[in-house]
Amino acid sequence: MTSSNGKGCSRRGFLITAGTVGVSALASQPLFQQDAVAEPNQNMIVPTRKFGKTGKEVSILSLGGMFDIPSNQIILNLAMKFGVTYWDTANSYGNGTSETGIGKYFQANPQDRSKIFLVSKAYTMDTEEMTTMLETSLKRMNTNYIDLYFMHALNSTDPLDDKVRKWAENAKKKGRIKLFGFSTHQNMQSCLMSAAKLGWIDGIMTTYNFRLMHQNDMKEALQACIEAGIGVTAMKTQGGGSVKTSSDTEIRMAGRFIQKGFTDKQAKLKAVWENPDIASLCSQMPNSTILMSNISAALNKTSLAAKDMELMHQYAMDTCSGYCAGCAHICEAEIQGKVPIGDIMRYLMYQETYGEKEFSESIVSRIPKDIRQRIAAVDFSSAERQCPQKIEIGNLMRKASDMLV
Ligand code: SF4
Repeated sequence: MTSSNGKGCSRRGFLITAGTVGVSALASQPLFQQDAVAEPNQNMIVPTRKFGKTGKEVSILSLGGMFDIPSNQIILNLAMKFGVTYWDTANSYGNGTSETGIGKYFQANPQDRSKIFLVSKAYTMDTEEMTTMLETSLKRMNTNYIDLYFMHALNSTDPLDDKVRKWAENAKKKGRIKLFGFSTHQNMQSCLMSAAKLGWIDGIMTTYNFRLMHQNDMKEALQACIEAGIGVTAMKTQGGGSVKTSSDTEIRMAGRFIQKGFTDKQAKLKAVWENPDIASLCSQMPNSTILMSNISAALNKTSLAAKDMELMHQYAMDTCSGYCAGCAHICEAEIQGKVPIGDIMRYLMYQETYGEKEFSESIVSRIPKDIRQRIAAVDFSSAERQCPQKIEIGNLMRKASDMLV
């Protein structure tokens, strides 16, 4: 598999090492007057798009549920009010409290259940365990169905065998789920491409952002999914940390977006929405400032110009070595799979870029102790040479190894 962004990619410090700003510190842009927040009019409702050929329409902005939902019911209320009706959670988020928080909302607002496109995920390959997790999720969320159920974090479609297909069919027949699919953060392009051939996948949530959207293999994989009628949701749309002003491209980009009335974070969302094949974009919005800033971007009808997209592409090239593109099949093959580089990169990203300590711990908790202990002894030089993003893999693995001891 080739990646078109390998060319021109420059080696610079990994963004996560720079102590960059976390999601909770994303800049915002004021959107509405206070009284408008209380009662939005029809022009302030987030638009919808078709979710593949499923017959469902979903809001183009999806509320990521990786925050303390039980104590932040106001976020759900606000999301509902502005038409952010696609809610994404997982059995594992917050050790179950994410789903419990959604359940609390539905208990207080049962009339809203039918208006929400509800997604949850099970991190398991075992169908019996998936049944248990599904039933737990339904109970926690005070609902008797989930609109779209995902197998969580696949890095290949190998687990999607006939047993899983039958499981999904059966769960649909019983009315426990309406649609079935998976989420993917690694080897996304090959996952999308082979899912398109399966013929029974309804929806996929994939890492997708201004860095990945220019890659030829990503474009082809997305196109295959669209032709197969699969609804696609983008996640990790910020593509790493905040834009700074340490290069000419960054300064030009920041200036241009400020002139247009966007923050760089809003511009990154808009870049994803420029692709009509992306049905929705999932964003972690743990406070009303970020939620309203993202709603503002979703409502803004100004399109990004070709020049804007060009600048973002250039920025992606300038800062490529600060972003792990999830193509773990490349680097892990070079070290004969001795270390799950892709998972460790995600661990570092959640630890340092997004400040999501709990979630990052859950990623490494799945890595056996003996593998963690061997990280420091592995020679990553050949993996580094093959990395299309020119990431200093060895340094980062040693850093992670120190953190994991
Ligand atoms: S370290 Fe490089 S090769 Fe490995 S997953 Fe990240 S971007 Fe791809």
